[in-house]
Amino acid sequence: MKDIPEWGQGEDVPYAALCSVFEEIEGTTKRLAIQEHLTALFLRVLERTPNALVHIVYLCINRLAPEYEGVELGIGEQILMKSVASAYGRSLADVRADVHAYGDLGRVAELSRTRQTVMWKPKPLMVRGVFEALGRISQMSGKASQTDKVSAIRKLIQACKGVEARYLTRSLEGKLRIGLAEQTVLTALGHAALRHHALSRGDAVDAEGLAGAVERIKSMYNQLPSYDVLVPALVSEGLEGAEKICRLTAGIPVKPMLAHPTKSLTEVLDRFEGTTFTCEYKYDGERAQIHYTRPSQGGKDEGRGGTHIYSRNSEDMTGRYPDVAGRIESSAPEGTESFILDAEAVAWDRVKEEILPFQVLSTRKRKDVREEDISVQVCIFAFDLLYLNGQSLLQEPLSKRQALMRETFKEAPGTFVFTQSMETRSPELIQEFLDRSIQDHCEGLMIKVSQGEEATYEPSRRSRNWLKVKKDYLSGLGDSLDLVVVGAYMGKGKRVGGYGGYLLACYDPATEEYQTICKIGTGFRDEDLRTLHSTLSANTVLTKPSYYRHGGGENQVPDVWFRPTMIWEVKAADLSISPVYQAAVGFMDETKGISLRFPRFLGIREDKRSEDASTAEMVAEMYRKQLDKSG
Ligand code: ATP
Repeated sequence: MKDIPEWGQGEDVPYAALCSVFEEIEGTTKRLAIQEHLTALFLRVLERTPNALVHIVYLCINRLAPEYEGVELGIGEQILMKSVASAYGRSLADVRADVHAYGDLGRVAELSRTRQTVMWKPKPLMVRGVFEALGRISQMSGKASQTDKVSAIRKLIQACKGVEARYLTRSLEGKLRIGLAEQTVLTALGHAALRHHALSRGDAVDAEGLAGAVERIKSMYNQLPSYDVLVPALVSEGLEGAEKICRLTAGIPVKPMLAHPTKSLTEVLDRFEGTTFTCEYKYDGERAQIHYTRPSQGGKDEGRGGTHIYSRNSEDMTGRYPDVAGRIESSAPEGTESFILDAEAVAWDRVKEEILPFQVLSTRKRKDVREEDISVQVCIFAFDLLYLNGQSLLQEPLSKRQALMRETFKEAPGTFVFTQSMETRSPELIQEFLDRSIQDHCEGLMIKVSQGEEATYEPSRRSRNWLKVKKDYLSGLGDSLDLVVVGAYMGKGKRVGGYGGYLLACYDPATEEYQTICKIGTGFRDEDLRTLHSTLSANTVLTKPSYYRHGGGENQVPDVWFRPTMIWEVKAADLSISPVYQAAVGFMDETKGISLRFPRFLGIREDKRSEDASTAEMVAEMYRKQLDKSG
């Protein structure tokens, strides 16, 4: 174990202290060891400089603000290479050659730093200073921004010592890549908060206590996903006090509950035996979490007043739906103080009075839509009520939440309605309802436990209490996969001059790796290929990033690699074990991964970020299910 640079009581935390913990974490794959390193750091910060904890947490997860504020770092490779070159007096060509050789700009920055003879001793970097500088850099925009950015980044990198250059550069890239998952940060936060409290009172800490603290922290974060609120609340109030502050709040998006895929109604009926459940249409649109706070209430939900609509990813999509806000407000009774509805926004044909496919919705601009320019109409299908007039309903069973929703809000056909639903245990009637959902242009059904302890709303969980049955599950692989485009092969014949095929990957949150899963060349229309080429070619990187995992010989290596920015929905015939593709490596075989056979492109998932791709675990589960079926 390395010596962590020390600092005194009440003093700023040296950035070197954080970086040496990053180095420890990067050097191990053991989850418990990672947790311990981080807990020890958090504890020390809590004892000496508690106000710095929030910055440290953000730097660990590579963010600068809550997700819903949309603050992004992700500085382009070109700007970073220029900054590194100018910081260390090297030529851009040299830096580029090194990036080719090492595949990691962070390492290149670090090596350039150690090779450079230092004429003057830079002032040590402090966590607070680095955090604030990163914030300023992320705000720089406009024409002058490239030069401004290079100069701000250069100053920062010049002040780095040793490994600091590696982690700072990676933070600027937007990916720390040390194998530190956000869930581990939350766990360490829970452990440190409990230990700190126990130390101050001279109490002992046991495993049960630690597990309880982690559960409490995660529940707080799931309800109010903002470290800006959570960490200061923990620091000043401790776990118990923080629980009173970190509760579901109108105006701050809660991480949505997600559903498990199933392959057949029989699987659903087996799982739900002995429970009370409800069947709903699964609409093919975009998740819309609708928040409302009556303006000028001055109450606890004040601050993000009025109506806000958030995506599946907690992105503020209010600007995409200027036509929706007023309608929902008028569906609520007069005097309503606040609410949070969970719903699906679906493209709607007002003449034929029917649902239009998801592809039509995706032609609506994502931002700054003006009401007078709207050509694609939207109908909101509400399926849940999470909050009403200052009260959280998360712990109430679904049946009660929905009854309250139906009692409180007024439907407006074609613009705001409740989901179609049916309660029955009869397999024949469910099958009929499924067929009807397809005729009504839906994707299938969502089947949810409606009463009892399992019927609560579970933020951020892909829960077995919500199951989805899609029409096309009934044959083939089951669910489609959402995969990251990591590379491309140059086209031949008709596709010459563009990309002929793409390399796709799933994501493993435990290792933060993108693991390749297949090459894909079918399902595209010619115009798709043209637009994809121009969007993706702007995202190429010089060499395979170190966090991409791909096997095989030279002819399997793609001609270009991309930054992980785009997610595609892909369907395949089945899965097979492969030495080349590395998806879910370690799950079924130590060196071989899983690959998709006969993959087809279905469309782009604009509502997902690269970390929301199908995970290695999901791929392994699909493979196991396929084995069960064939066995
Ligand atoms: P998918 O690719 O199926 O959309 P996903 O990963 O985005 O997957 P899932 O949990 O798999 O999300 O499916 C649930 C999604 O279905 C929700 O995020 C929501 O957008 C949509 N949906 C449509 N109708 C309903 C409904 N009645 N209840 C809940 N979600 C619904």
